[in-house]
Amino acid sequence: MSVIDLVREDLRAFAGYASARKEASGGRILLNANESPWPQAGDTLDLHRYPAPQPAELVERLAALYGVPPAMLLVGRGSDEAIDLLTRALCRAGEHAVLISPPTFGMYEVCARVQGAAVQKVPLQAAQGFALDVEAVLAAVGPATRIVHVCSPNNPTGAAVPPERLRQLALGLAGRALMLVDEAYGEFADAPAGIDLARAFDHVAVLRTLSKAHALAGARIGCLIAAPELIGVLRSIMAPYPLPTPSVRAALDALRPEALALTRSRIGLIREERRRMAEALAHMPGVLEVLPSDANFLTVRLADAPAIHAAALAAGIVLRVPAQGSGLDGCLRISIGTPTENDAVLELLRGRRQAA
Ligand SMILES: *Cc1c(COP(=O)(O)O)cnc(C)c1O
Repeated sequence: MSVIDLVREDLRAFAGYASARKEASGGRILLNANESPWPQAGDTLDLHRYPAPQPAELVERLAALYGVPPAMLLVGRGSDEAIDLLTRALCRAGEHAVLISPPTFGMYEVCARVQGAAVQKVPLQAAQGFALDVEAVLAAVGPATRIVHVCSPNNPTGAAVPPERLRQLALGLAGRALMLVDEAYGEFADAPAGIDLARAFDHVAVLRTLSKAHALAGARIGCLIAAPELIGVLRSIMAPYPLPTPSVRAALDALRPEALALTRSRIGLIREERRRMAEALAHMPGVLEVLPSDANFLTVRLADAPAIHAAALAAGIVLRVPAQGSGLDGCLRISIGTPTENDAVLELLRGRRQAA
C-alpha cells in the first residue's frame, strides 16, 4: 500500500490550475500573466510580478534546514494551511474521519469540520502527565480514519511524545492512516523525532513552521514534510500563488547563516528561561502544578486561574486560557517571553501573595 491510497480517489490524478508562473519561467519578456509591466514607485521586490508558486531557493534552503530532499517539502501560508490541505485531500465529506488526542491544537478539528469529516477523540492520559495513549489510538483507528494527528511538543500541554512511542504509533499505523506529526515547537524540544520517521515511512508527515522559533509568525511561512507523491497531490490542489513575495524574502533572510545563529542562541535562552520560570512558578503559592514543557510556553494549574488571568490583564499581561472541558480547567498557558517579561509574570504572582 502506498500513501496515495489514502488520498481521495477523485484527486489522485488531479492536474490542478496551470498558473502562468508555473507554465513558463526564465523568459526575458513576460507577457503571459496579465501583470503590470511597471512596478510601483520605490518597489524593490518586483511586486508587479506574480511570485513562484514554490520558490526553488526557499524550498531548497528549508529542505537543507530540515535535512530532507526538496521533493518532500511543501511550503505554505503557515503550517495551518498544510493541515487544511491534507484534510481536504484525504477526507471525503460525510465519509472519512481524523483522529485527535485532546487537549490539543484546535485547528485539526476546525479543518475536519470545515471539510465535513468526522472527528474521533482519544484523550491524552491526564493521570500520566497528558501522555499520548498510543494503544488506545491504534485501537480506535478504523477504516474511515484518514489522518491521526499527533502534536509533539503538544499545544497546550507542552510535552513532546517520547521518540520510541512515536515510532511505535508509526509502525502500528502503516497501511491504515496518515500520521501527521505537528512539530511547530520542535526546535524547543531535546530530540524531535518526526522528520526521521517521515524519511523512513511514507505514511508519516511532519509540520514545521517559521512562526515560532524563527520569529516569523507575521510572514506566514510553514512547511509540510511528506512523501514526494503526497506533496505532488497537495501542490496540485493548493492556491496558485500562495506565498507573497515579501514573506518569501523575509523567510530567505531568516535562513541566512547569521540569522540562524541568532535563532539558535534565542532558542537556548528560551529553554533556559523555561527552566527558570518552571522552577520559580512551582514554588509560588496558588500554583498547583506546572506541566513539563518541551515548548516555548508553560501551562500551569492554579488555585484561582480566573483571578490570576484578570490580575494579569489589569497589569497589561495577556495570558492564554486553554479550552475548557479538556482536562485543563483551572489552567493558564504562559508563553516564555524576554527575561524582563517573564519577571513581570513572576512579580505579579508574588505581589498577589503579599496582598493575600
Ligand atoms: C502555532 C501552531 C501552528 C501554526 O503555525 P503556523 O505555521 O503559524 O500556521 C501549528 N501547530 C501548532 C501546534 C501550533 O501551536
